[in-house]
Amino acid sequence: MPAKLIDGKAYAEGLRARIGAAVATLKKEHGLTPGLAVVLVGEDPASKVYVANKAKQTVEVGMNSWEHKLPADTSEATLLALVDKLNKDPAVHGILVQMPVPKHIDSAKVLNAIDPAKDVDGFHVVNVGRLSTGQEALTACTPVGCVMLAKDTLGDLTGLNAVVIGRSNIVGKPVAQLLLAENCTVTIAHSKSKDLPGIVRGADLVIAAVGRPEMVKGDWIKPGATVIDVGINRIERDGKGKLVGDCDFASCAAVAGAITPVPGGVGPMTIACLLYNTVKAACAIKGVKAPGM
Ligand code: NDP
Repeated sequence: MPAKLIDGKAYAEGLRARIGAAVATLKKEHGLTPGLAVVLVGEDPASKVYVANKAKQTVEVGMNSWEHKLPADTSEATLLALVDKLNKDPAVHGILVQMPVPKHIDSAKVLNAIDPAKDVDGFHVVNVGRLSTGQEALTACTPVGCVMLAKDTLGDLTGLNAVVIGRSNIVGKPVAQLLLAENCTVTIAHSKSKDLPGIVRGADLVIAAVGRPEMVKGDWIKPGATVIDVGINRIERDGKGKLVGDCDFASCAAVAGAITPVPGGVGPMTIACLLYNTVKAACAIKGVKAPGM
């Protein structure tokens, strides 16, 4: 039987609608309008598109949005001064510095200059530490989106064997921590892992975050397993540009119980989870309970 398609686009639309309702409640009951400031340094075309989409969706759910566009030759000190200003601005509840920043700027220094309470990307060491010690934390958006889709598909994840392929700080490690918190038995595989197909064959839940087009094949997948494909890879096929994931969709979908498509799976969840984190941050800063989302 072919796999059920996990529709991340539809889930993200529903989540944004719930965030919009939560924002309306916060405005009405607490006079609180969550606000997100996004900082872009330079002219990277992909980053410009991401930042524009973030701003559009922030406004659509009723939140305040600020875009700070700085030239590529901005000094690290100037960027740090802007982060400091945003940290101190009471109307700003979430701060996101779009990565990558130009090479002359130390990205770790900038990410760790953000107030952890406003770190809606979840990359500050304090939030990473909180996540790994089981404390309330702002957590990286794509991993949060992956786990939302997994739970929506499977319900309780307790006891499942989860294999995460990839150990980046942005996706692999935080998604593994979140799955551990959901009581999965988690294996993290990476480029030095031996017998990757054998490791993946033991998984009830596979999260592929590798950045290698169509690497995971159908005969690696345990029949009925759930496959969450984080990869976004641009390839040329039949003379045309195409987006594909890290999983070979056709062969994996023939074996899996459920699978995310690329595009339309994990991708749309990232911005929705950024808005979700901004509402959480605003509520925590203001000391009010976050409405259900
Ligand atoms: P990174 O390049 O930072 O990390 C890739 C990971 O994959 C590394 O841990 C690497 O291992 C591992 N890896 C590489 N080759 C292999 C291999 N042959 N076998 C097993 N593991 C391997 O990538 P990211 O985590 O940032 O992103 C992963 C993918 O997810 C990309 O396609 C990216 O575009 C996509 N992405 C999508 C997002 C979204 O949907 N919004 C957001 C973020 C990322 P090692 O550590 O040993 O080098």
